[in-house]
Amino acid sequence: MQTNPPYTEIIDIRGSKVLQMIDPNDNSRTRYQYLARHPNLLYRRQLPAVEHGDVWRGEAHPRPWEQSAPRDVPTTGPVRDYIDWASLAYCEVNMVECIGGPVLGPDGKPTFTEDEQNYGGDGPEPVRIYPMLPVQTHEYWPSVTSVACPCGDPNGWVAWAEAGWVPGYRICTKCGQHFMASGDASDPSLTELIGRKD
Ligand SMILES: [Zn+2]
Repeated sequence: MQTNPPYTEIIDIRGSKVLQMIDPNDNSRTRYQYLARHPNLLYRRQLPAVEHGDVWRGEAHPRPWEQSAPRDVPTTGPVRDYIDWASLAYCEVNMVECIGGPVLGPDGKPTFTEDEQNYGGDGPEPVRIYPMLPVQTHEYWPSVTSVACPCGDPNGWVAWAEAGWVPGYRICTKCGQHFMASGDASDPSLTELIGRKD
């Protein structure tokens, strides 16, 4: 006899604590996942059963996270409990979250294109442009902020670093590489400023 997966479970996705719910009455075992970024900022997505992977049949990529409208953020129940827990936990770990990351090629490594761009005003500098997974369909910043770094270090996440720099500036917390956020919500990317590293 097959054992039922737990109804609710906290799972770790790239350092983010995600609430996963599988309705025991639903034979398809669809996974409902929730990610709280702030007490009133909740993302959710629906994935097929574990044995079918993260991509729905007939679709090319996993569906991105969708932000719940404020009226849809539960005020009671397991999702609310998770949000309250996550809000406390995030305070302790300084809001570390990491649900996005670079688009991986068939070899499992991040894909990129090379270019030269003039970001600092001192003439063109070599850059690598990494396409990033669209975390959300209508907002851009969650796909290029607090996401997994192309360096691949499990503790490397691309952090907001606009203080003292310019809008869109990001620096990896592990490898120290500098990036500029680029693209848009449906096609986000990070431009690596190859010559700039902490
Ligand atoms: Zn890095």
